[in-house]
Amino acid sequence: MLGPDTAEDSNVSLQSVPADVLKVIDRLFRSGFAVYVVGGALRDLRLGLAPKDWDLATDALPEQVAAIFPRIVPIGIRHGTVMVLTKQREIEVTTFSGSKGILGDLGRRDFTMNALALSYPEEILLDPHDGQIDLRKQTLRAVGDARSRFAEDPLRTLRAARFVSTYGLHVEPGTLDAIACMAESIGTTAAERVREEIFKLLSGENLLEAFDLMQGSGLLRKILPELAFLGSPPPPCRDGNSTYSHTATVIRCCPPSSRIRTAALLHSIPGSAPTVLNRWKASARLTREIVALTADQIPSAAGSWTDAQLRRYIARIGLDLLPDALDLASAHERSLGFDPTEPGGTQELRMRISRQIEQRVPFDIKNLAIDGHDVVKILAIKPGSLVGDILRRLHQKVLDDPALNRKEILVEFLRKEYLK
Ligand code: ATP
Ligand code: MG
Repeated sequence: MLGPDTAEDSNVSLQSVPADVLKVIDRLFRSGFAVYVVGGALRDLRLGLAPKDWDLATDALPEQVAAIFPRIVPIGIRHGTVMVLTKQREIEVTTFSGSKGILGDLGRRDFTMNALALSYPEEILLDPHDGQIDLRKQTLRAVGDARSRFAEDPLRTLRAARFVSTYGLHVEPGTLDAIACMAESIGTTAAERVREEIFKLLSGENLLEAFDLMQGSGLLRKILPELAFLGSPPPPCRDGNSTYSHTATVIRCCPPSSRIRTAALLHSIPGSAPTVLNRWKASARLTREIVALTADQIPSAAGSWTDAQLRRYIARIGLDLLPDALDLASAHERSLGFDPTEPGGTQELRMRISRQIEQRVPFDIKNLAIDGHDVVKILAIKPGSLVGDILRRLHQKVLDDPALNRKEILVEFLRKEYLK
């Protein structure tokens, strides 16, 4: 939770703006245009956090912005936005139009805390919607009439849940009502936008609060019905909670990468993971990885696995995904109130797994002492799916007993088994 003290102490001034961003600002100003720092960066500075990106607003038309800077991305030019590239970053420069100027721009933003602007060169902080007061009270409030703001762009309802998760804010009652009223319409928002907000939401700390908001408002039923409609989580989670709150607790216990946190999000509904990720237009690679992590979770009984079972698991999940699989298992353990360092816990499993990895077991079938060509030659068969089947069988044997991974032993085994 962010305390009001950090907000008081922080310094929203041009001194906090990185040199390359200041250079872009100054260039626009010297070309005769009005220019402001706007949006999330000012909010983050107010909260004493490091801004992730810097956005500018100007009265220069997109074509004029494009003419001033040598390196730009014209994407969004029709919507009045140009990306100006510096060595360090991409800066979003948006043109404000209409008679209200910068105030009109701020009035179209989502939440009061995001509707701040810092003028250049006077360094005056514009806060026409009292965003700083709301921030000090840790309140999330829509700019203007909440319902019509959410109707204009339903993604804002999900952004609200994201800010609850990442900043520990509480939602002002009128804004909360409007989220519930407008939750249905999130279905009309582009899948990519929904996915990106969910990933940001998952990176937060206040997940239980965010999930309560999503479940209570009906948002979860729209974006993740597979989870929203489940009752109690499956055994061994007998904490009496609903599946979504159990899920929120597991996510919070995971490191903040979107891959593992999305796997945690879907860990109770592994069969739905491909459908959900497809719906969110996640990349093929991320989908494959998350599907593997959810479909092949380390069970709580893994403490009694034999070394051979352990090796087979490592081979199945692969060394790339193994750290996430272990972190997910630890998170699950902690979410249920167990200590991973207790005997039989995941800490012990980690140690046993490290020992196996140090012994250079051929976890990948490619590291078998013989390959497909050898099988074809020794058995005098044609290349085909049988070769793959035979190699997989040999691999399982070697995982059971890694000492067998020597060419002469495997050749001998092949002869005995297949050349009778
Ligand atoms: P972060 O950068 O931390 O992910 P942000 O709030 O800065 O969060 P951006 O996507 O960078 O989000 O947007 C920059 C600013 O643009 C916001 O602070 C807000 O003022 C405005 N904004 C973004 N999305 C919307 C939206 N859907 N509706 C209205 N205003 C928005
Ligand atoms: Mg931002």
